[in-house]
Amino acid sequence: MNDRHTFSADSGTPDTFSIACPTVLPLSSILPEEPLLMMGAGPVPIPDAVAKANGVVINHLGSTMAAVIGQVKTMARYVFQTESKWVMGVAGPGSAAMEMAITNLAWKGSRVLCICNGFFSERMAEMARRTGAHVETLNVVDGTAADTRQAADAIDRFRPEIVTIVHGETSNTVWNRSLESIASVARAAGALVIVDAVCTLSTMPLPMDAWGIDAVITGGQKGLSSIPGVSLLAFSEAAWQRIMTRPVPPTHWCLDAALATNFWHNASYHYTAPVSGVLALHEALRLVCAETLERRFARHQRCSNALQAGVEALALKLYVPKPSRLNSVVGIALPQGVSGSDVCAHISRHHHVEIAGSFGAPIVRIGQMGEQCREHHLFRTIHALGRTMIDLGVAVDLPAGVAALERSLSAA
Ligand SMILES: *Cc1c(COP(=O)(O)O)cnc(C)c1O
Repeated sequence: MNDRHTFSADSGTPDTFSIACPTVLPLSSILPEEPLLMMGAGPVPIPDAVAKANGVVINHLGSTMAAVIGQVKTMARYVFQTESKWVMGVAGPGSAAMEMAITNLAWKGSRVLCICNGFFSERMAEMARRTGAHVETLNVVDGTAADTRQAADAIDRFRPEIVTIVHGETSNTVWNRSLESIASVARAAGALVIVDAVCTLSTMPLPMDAWGIDAVITGGQKGLSSIPGVSLLAFSEAAWQRIMTRPVPPTHWCLDAALATNFWHNASYHYTAPVSGVLALHEALRLVCAETLERRFARHQRCSNALQAGVEALALKLYVPKPSRLNSVVGIALPQGVSGSDVCAHISRHHHVEIAGSFGAPIVRIGQMGEQCREHHLFRTIHALGRTMIDLGVAVDLPAGVAALERSLSAA
């Protein structure tokens, strides 16, 4: 392993490389022997077809890539439920898609109302501020959904050109169940609506055209069960008009939506596309289409309901009351005297199940996105969670949890 280094040292040129060649461990001795079951807030497990596609490299331009991109856009239109032509991808995390939507639609002086439910919706506000936009936030009480009346008042008062809102706030597991009516109020007031659907797209209904949404963003590693690092977004025709009539080009060259059409609409060069990740995304979308959205939504609902029933039967508390509770990431209140990091470390180390801590809320989170919504994963997760709590000194009823899970699944 160090032959080369030894060779250069022996050949009398020890000073040629002032930084010595490092000795590192192979991945096989870093990664756990048994792969962890990824039941956190993403990344989620990926299907074999996605993993295989992710190992392929093709030319980033040319007819093969053009055929792949054509299909990715067609499938994405189905998943977004939009007829808009302006569907595109971006090399980067969900946050890059978020930044692409915001920095193309907002600029210095733009009036942006950001409805903030937590960590991720607040991120949109921060991105909007950085464009020099005039940003106002509507801060929603933690653990509750945004209210249409309050949103309407804020829109009336502030007269925004753009409203940002999150569909599912992964950080505190709140579902903005009034998204449709808030979008409709915003639209009626002449504002464009940007929706963060990173954790919800393809897990629950979000019909972009029917709800009059102008930009929807998502990542790869959550609902779609693809890899992290390649993300998707869609702009409405109205959003596109605003982008085309901007007074100045956006600051971020890589995230410039007009330039992105070179690759996503004209089979030519913008930057070298993340080829393997695009192929992986193709396969993830193909599996969504094969399943159909109806059946995929039903699977998510059924699995998440069962997980929630199992958690409650363990005698643990769910963080968000039922009406505003997000299905795609379930927040579990931490029992007295137990820390989130203890729970996450213990369940990972002893049961090879990964779950998520939080960004401040006193909870741990279990994902129900894409491949996480499989019965066998649920049984393993509820068992691992129950055992972990017992090991940490929390009195839970493990058999009752497993029974409730089974009852809920077989009743559905
Ligand atoms: C995960 C997540 C993001 C951020 O996605 P990254 O890929 O980490 O950038 C944004 N919004 C929501 C709702 C998320 O769940």
